[in-house]
Amino acid sequence: MVVVEDEATIAGAIADRLRAEGYDVSIAGDGPGGVAMCEQVRPDLVVLDLMLPGFDGLEVCRRVQRDRHVPVLMLTARTEETDLLVGLGVGADDYMTKPFSPRELVARVQVLLRRADRAGAAPGSRLRLGDGEVDTAARRVRRAGSDVHLTPVEYALLLRLVEQPGTVLTRERLLADVWGWDHGGTRTVDSHVRALRRKLGDTLVRTVHGVGYALEPERA
Ligand code: CA
Repeated sequence: MVVVEDEATIAGAIADRLRAEGYDVSIAGDGPGGVAMCEQVRPDLVVLDLMLPGFDGLEVCRRVQRDRHVPVLMLTARTEETDLLVGLGVGADDYMTKPFSPRELVARVQVLLRRADRAGAAPGSRLRLGDGEVDTAARRVRRAGSDVHLTPVEYALLLRLVEQPGTVLTRERLLADVWGWDHGGTRTVDSHVRALRRKLGDTLVRTVHGVGYALEPERA
């Protein structure tokens, strides 16, 4: 994986911790260097600081994701920055506000890698979803002929539901599989299901009161 961070001590600490977990880690210290490093090593994950010399983490994120999806864990200096970025639907898969514990960083990295593995193993390449479809090879969702923009988390949640159409998945199960256990509460699941319904239609995801959610099999 690649760590793009201009503060050398933070970059070094992150790299040491990830290497201790057995990952190969390369470090870049600015925006252009980060993009070049990603082109060179084609990482399976990028830990990306928001504020960087050259150009910022948003631009790095756009450039490294131009021709293929790479999970991005974005680091920010303030909680308000994270809130803003989440609201903008930037292409990062997860966010951490500094300072964070190394243990938490490793946990987030593992969740993102598992999520990417699952997306890669999704059945078929085009799946019908009512009046829409998801193309897992192109990582694209369309409805009534138009592209639907899903955030990385919404997309991961949709794929998890699509894996088992008609099966009721508890909110705890979804939280564990899509977010990782120690990341938010079950309300996080509810708000993302609402977002999926808003974008893909009200009847796609059924609520099973007191239990969880299921993708409607006749709509899938
Ligand atoms: Ca920085």
